[in-house]
Amino acid sequence: MNQTELKAAWTAKWRATIDDHEYRLSNPEAYRTNCHWEAREMLAAGIIDELEKLEMDELVDAAYWHAVEELVTNEVGYLQGGHYNVMPRNGGTCIGKIINGTYSAADGKALGGFEARVLQNNSGRHLAFRFGGEPWPIDGLVLTSNTGEQFDLVLTAQFINGVVYRPVDDADTYRALVNTAQIALEAHDFDTYRKARPLLMGAEFTMCIECHDSFSLREDCQACAGNGFIRRARHQPNSSA
Ligand SMILES: [Zn+2]
Repeated sequence: MNQTELKAAWTAKWRATIDDHEYRLSNPEAYRTNCHWEAREMLAAGIIDELEKLEMDELVDAAYWHAVEELVTNEVGYLQGGHYNVMPRNGGTCIGKIINGTYSAADGKALGGFEARVLQNNSGRHLAFRFGGEPWPIDGLVLTSNTGEQFDLVLTAQFINGVVYRPVDDADTYRALVNTAQIALEAHDFDTYRKARPLLMGAEFTMCIECHDSFSLREDCQACAGNGFIRRARHQPNSSA
């Protein structure tokens, strides 16, 4: 392969990553890092020059900011670094915990290691058991057993950049976090935004869908009583048993 062919092939590889809409929306930070990494390797190999790299990185950054803006109002699904209690949907006690993708049963039967891992493949996300057996699908924050029983994954904490955080459940703290994130978003300050985004996703509150936290609309908004945000709807067990 000569230099021209190599450049065409490598650019096509980079292009396939930047065009991966699914990846961009499911993990925007990893998406951005991977695209930048690819361009950096191309520069190091002498395939592209500094200016070309700059232009490529700018395209990636624009795609990143576009994605996170879109995600602000999206329903939050399963979070990679999430700590979850696995609660039977029809009531009853917690059957186990998922911590950073590893499931362990509440009854402690899993001696010497994990019992299952959260994995994702083409058919979606699921809980794959250590000793085989049918995997249990995870759709959003609902886990379904092989017998059809449903469980809610209730977020109790999040592991972000090496630190465990409790979900933000104080309205003032949430407001301050939203303001910080907003400024970072407008300024395209990646380092601040990537820290704020997972905290916002794990928070007990979410942006009001009526007024979209717009300064001019929220004052008269009935849905959020002028706060611009509302408490996140969590699936509640329909029995207290
Ligand atoms: Zn509102």
